[in-house]
Amino acid sequence: DALARLVDGLMRTVPDFPGPGVQFRDITPLLADADAFAQVVAALADHVYGPVDLVAGMEARGFLLAAPVAVALGAGVVPVRKAGKLPGPVASRSYALEYGSAAVEVQPFTVADGARVLVIDDVLATGGTAAATVELLESCGATVVGLSFLVELQGLGGRALLPGRDVDALLTLP
Ligand code: IMP
Repeated sequence: DALARLVDGLMRTVPDFPGPGVQFRDITPLLADADAFAQVVAALADHVYGPVDLVAGMEARGFLLAAPVAVALGAGVVPVRKAGKLPGPVASRSYALEYGSAAVEVQPFTVADGARVLVIDDVLATGGTAAATVELLESCGATVVGLSFLVELQGLGGRALLPGRDVDALLTLP
């Protein structure tokens, strides 16, 4: 559709970044385009998951999308950060990477028990980050009502790590 074409047209594909063999999808041109950014934020906020209390964005590009979507929905925003960035108390969830592991953290006092949370990020790749984020938020007592991404890299199979979840992407790439 028109929105997918818009995202596709403004995204850069950068070979071998941040390492050899990786095709990095760079959404910064889209963020810098006032009209495109507004359309994308509106589309993310329009996708109906029912009432939303909080929008959680993953470090770092997820922050840039989660904040305006939260304002559009009349919701609060929660940063989901890499380990060691937030002052405690923090809740933490680690997940496997190709080499080693990583962890995502939130401050549990920002996530009210029973809060309905929409999770937002720029790219769904292997799904490790998103799956860990869902587990992290739900360990704090939240209900994750859905996940929205600008781009889903379908070939990396991220959805398989999010079984039964409502997952939406504005652009799906093979
Ligand atoms: P995953 O955990 O493999 O799904 O990777 C998702 C996380 O890595 C997200 O926070 C993305 O922002 C980031 N990421 C992975 N691949 C890309 C990419 O091609 N472009 C931009 N971000 C990416």
